[in-house]
Amino acid sequence: MPTGPRHLVSIADLDATEIVKILDHGDRYWALADEPIKKLTSLRGRTVMIVMFENSTRTRTSFELAAKRLSAEAINISASASSTSKGESLLDTGRNLEAMHPDCVVVRHAYGGAAALLARTARCAIINAGDGQHEHPTQALLDAATIRRHKGSIEGLEIAIVGDISHSRVARSNILCLAKLGARIRVVAPWTLIPRGIELIGGDVTRERVTICPRLEDGLEGADVVMMLRVQHERFAGEAPRFPNTRELSRTFGLSERTLAYAKPDAIVMHPGPINRGVEVSPQVADGPRAVILQQVSWGVAIRMAVLERAILGDES
Ligand code: ASP
Repeated sequence: MPTGPRHLVSIADLDATEIVKILDHGDRYWALADEPIKKLTSLRGRTVMIVMFENSTRTRTSFELAAKRLSAEAINISASASSTSKGESLLDTGRNLEAMHPDCVVVRHAYGGAAALLARTARCAIINAGDGQHEHPTQALLDAATIRRHKGSIEGLEIAIVGDISHSRVARSNILCLAKLGARIRVVAPWTLIPRGIELIGGDVTRERVTICPRLEDGLEGADVVMMLRVQHERFAGEAPRFPNTRELSRTFGLSERTLAYAKPDAIVMHPGPINRGVEVSPQVADGPRAVILQQVSWGVAIRMAVLERAILGDES
């Protein structure tokens, strides 16, 4: 039976076996970064379009590098240079890009559901590189790969996700991914930054594994992994203020050497970037021995190589 393109829109669409398969696939590319020649040929002659309707540094660069390391043609399009700024709809932009026969379109958009909308009719594979506050599946996969590297297995780990949960697609994708892999997740933030029902986003899997902690010290106590998130000021437009000011939030929910001491002595510190130093994480912690933040960036390339091969080559990958 012919299979359709392998989109990657949401972690919700993957089961634990598929997640582990992508992580194992990414493992194969981790060591490639240390080779003098980093080029493979599996996607030679294929075309990957990377379309960013929102700002991106790490995600855009690592998708481009991932495509190029597999010998695909990578084309970057940014919102300011695209015709959506002239009033074209997302679907029309998608149809026009598809008329040029790419093998895969990687898309980031400020609207939740944008990648799913394109995937509904696309003949090529669509990869979600972040859709509004909804999901950022490749970030969750590279985070899981980083955790696995340090902790061996994800099953049974206590993972604290701290910060602006309300506006974070990283939090949503990570909660789904880590719960499916058997971790217990503490969602740590003031009540006003915790969306109602966050523990139910993955049904029973997350209901049983997600705990809400409105006090930082409780959330960090005995944690194996501490994942910090920045306040997504750009998504607050039109909302009533949710906390008194950034300084107050930093004082009560910021990660410093003092607050990190509540976590396990071998706990690792993660952050998807961009970091606001001195706000959600102190420079001492961000640059300290327990931070694996730059390793997350390195894993981004390896995992995105795996995701591109999965999308374009399917079962042959
Ligand atoms: N880079 C991540 C994202 O695109 C996190 C952030 O922007 O704070 O969602």
